Amino acid sequence: MASAWRRLGFYVCFLKSKLNGGPDIISRGRRVIPGCARGIYSATGTWTKEYTLQTRKDVENWWHKRIKEETSKISEADKSKPKFYVLSMFPYPSGKLHMGHVRVYTISDTIARFQKMRGMQVINPMGWDAFGLPAENAAIERNLHPESWTQSNIKHMRKQLDRLGLCFSWDREITTCLPDYYKWTQYLFIKLYEAGLAYQKEALVNWDPVDQTVLANEQVDEHGCSWRSGAKVEQKYLRQWFIKTTAYAKAMQDALADLPEWYGIKGMQAHWIGDCVGCHLDFTLKVDGHVTGEKLTAYTATPEAIYGTSHVAISPSHRLLHGHSSLKETFRKALVPGQDCLTPVTAVNMLTQREAPVVILAKADFEGSLDSKIGIPSTSPEDASLAQTLGLPYSEVIETLPDGTERLRNSAEFTGMNRQDAFLALTQKARRKRVGGDVTSDKLKDWLVSRQRYWGTPIPMVHCPACGPVPVPLQDLPVTLPHITAFTGKGGSPLATASDWVNCACPRCRGAAKRETDTMDTFVDSAWYYFRYTDPQNAHSPFNAALADYWMPVDLYIGGKEHAVMHLFYARFFSHFCHDQNMVKHREPFHKLLAQGLIKGQTFRLPSGQYLQREEVDLTGSVPVHANTKETVEVTWEKMSKSKHNGVDPQEVVGRYGIDTIRLYILFAAPPEKDILWDVKASLAESRSPQPRVRGRCVCPDRDGCPDGPSHHLGALGRPATGAREAVCPLCLGRRRAASGVAGRGPAVPSAARRRGDGRPGARVGITASHSQGIDGRGRGTLAVKRSSISLVQKRMPARQKQRGERPQGHWDDQQQSLRHNPRAPASLAGPGQSPRTRPPKRAGCQALAGAKHQENVPLPQNGPHQLPGAGLTAGRRKG
Ligand SMILES: [Zn+2]
Repeated sequence: MASAWRRLGFYVCFLKSKLNGGPDIISRGRRVIPGCARGIYSATGTWTKEYTLQTRKDVENWWHKRIKEETSKISEADKSKPKFYVLSMFPYPSGKLHMGHVRVYTISDTIARFQKMRGMQVINPMGWDAFGLPAENAAIERNLHPESWTQSNIKHMRKQLDRLGLCFSWDREITTCLPDYYKWTQYLFIKLYEAGLAYQKEALVNWDPVDQTVLANEQVDEHGCSWRSGAKVEQKYLRQWFIKTTAYAKAMQDALADLPEWYGIKGMQAHWIGDCVGCHLDFTLKVDGHVTGEKLTAYTATPEAIYGTSHVAISPSHRLLHGHSSLKETFRKALVPGQDCLTPVTAVNMLTQREAPVVILAKADFEGSLDSKIGIPSTSPEDASLAQTLGLPYSEVIETLPDGTERLRNSAEFTGMNRQDAFLALTQKARRKRVGGDVTSDKLKDWLVSRQRYWGTPIPMVHCPACGPVPVPLQDLPVTLPHITAFTGKGGSPLATASDWVNCACPRCRGAAKRETDTMDTFVDSAWYYFRYTDPQNAHSPFNAALADYWMPVDLYIGGKEHAVMHLFYARFFSHFCHDQNMVKHREPFHKLLAQGLIKGQTFRLPSGQYLQREEVDLTGSVPVHANTKETVEVTWEKMSKSKHNGVDPQEVVGRYGIDTIRLYILFAAPPEKDILWDVKASLAESRSPQPRVRGRCVCPDRDGCPDGPSHHLGALGRPATGAREAVCPLCLGRRRAASGVAGRGPAVPSAARRRGDGRPGARVGITASHSQGIDGRGRGTLAVKRSSISLVQKRMPARQKQRGERPQGHWDDQQQSLRHNPRAPASLAGPGQSPRTRPPKRAGCQALAGAKHQENVPLPQNGPHQLPGAGLTAGRRKG
């Protein structure tokens, strides 16, 4: 009876859709089925009896160009409609797509399509973060010009993306290494310079002896090695260009409150910026009453008490003792290691004009990342004791009234103010006079953007012996890269070798001058690209304000967790800056952030740390061992990488399973924020088709956890290799023995080994080839997903996990015929325009999105400082 009702409901549903101009009926034998429910579309009108891999590929090929045509016809001109800007972080054109790319672009493509179906004006643009070291390394190693290497990689990767059936807004494509893009990067740099936010100073920098370049602090790992070359980083003093990000520290810290949908990442941003409680102030230095021309900047957490300064302290590692400063010898003479030393140098506060001696402290480590601070005894007992020890004069500047309020005294115009008012008034005055005063933390540093490299945006500055650094006039932009053919990878910037290019006329006095030979950190290029997508062909300005105001902020920004701190911080900085330049209405560039999880592959590692290939490991015993040496091998899951032999080539898997299977699998294998453990063994098992379907008996210890009982079909996933007696259970991923007792080796990975390492057998899924694609009567895509493939997500949880009371990520809802995510998993694929209660349109194509209706604002766990949230999370469950 129930089935009759269900059938009736089905046809009523269909009739309704038919009356609304829905798809046609298809007769298949004696059965009548609605077009929207059909699994396979046939161009010839005949139905394919066998659903094979070839059928799937034919279907995909047939639809590929039609879907592309369909999407390209959609106009984005109608500005009366609500917009949706979905953005995935643009790739570096390395020439090879990896599975991480496939995941992030599949997610953005799916959401873009979903929002289009909701009637939104959608852009889902794509471009290339095309400057960077690898191009130059290719030039050095393979004698290829960075430009031709990059361009050919872009061409190749575009084809690869196209093969994945991704519908990007290609008419908005941008490439950061082209002059029509970097002209505007230079323009923004000059705007920063004019605003006093780009400056040069000598700084102790991280020097990579292999790449011969300066590295940012963040590019040096915890072992003091370069993130790229792995070489031990050296310290070196160089005059560098900086962008004064500290000027926006407070504004950016405060604006985090306006970003409720930055799950987890917000905490990391806040931690990166630090507590903005003080400011830096500038001093000029004098020796024996003579002005030296040297400057010193020092931090204080209590600038309101600045009139009570007793000294200015610097650390023994300060640049004044090590760099090219004219006071280096004076300071070095005064230094007694291990002691607080008074020096003959006096610092004149550029705001108050008061003088105080400079002291070299015995301790090397100051608070945060400081190397200089202002000593104020009134607010710091430590400073008071130092002043007494060294006999330094100072005045008390804070008095406490009987009612407990603190007021300033002996503080010139600030006398009588309470501390809060004095803090605001003093920092404001300092900012106005451009002598510091930007409220920031003691840990945030300005952004070092100089790189001694060829393949980057040239810094548009000219050094004139008479005028000093002069920006290139805006009408002369872009400063294009000179054509250099000989790349050695040694020495300083390759630009210095192009003498015709370096020697130029000073824009101000027309005298002989030299161009800046450093190029910019590629993070500068990617700090504003989201603006350029809104107006990519603009030849007169970086972007049109009206267009940027319409499309910005980005509604959903998708990318890896590794960019949670630096890239997002720099991108937010540029957006705040552009807002203050009246270039755009919005301050914050990204409304919602989705940090997608990794796709991990299984690794086999020897105790020595050496990674083995799967073929080198003997998995027949109770523990996996090296096939030759019999050493025990550690089995874990790590981010896919060539060096770890655990990568999967997207082209290979697409060739094997078809585009849709891969895309669908990636979407349902785990919520987007979680990691996917990609089981190569399971995937390979399927490739050995055609194989007969074999009945098997589950022999894994978790067989009770297998919902289909101990005996069921070994499906596509679990087909044993020819001659094998055992195979992997497709549902519980345990061991199963084939009923037909054929001799042969056991499973490639014994269940005991599967439970080693992270102990998360439940997170691994293979792919069953049981979905199909079609398009409904109105040209919209439908994806009919058979239950068997999706139910894997639910069914693969082993009994042990169940006993611990853990819940799976999702479960199959029989009534809804859809996969439901458990509320605890933040599976929020829907955009901000959708309230948590809004149900997405209920059609087959949206089954993978059905979890969106359960979206809850569950933040990702916030781990320790600078630790990535979600690291160590898997599709199956959170690591204990
Ligand atoms: Zn000049």
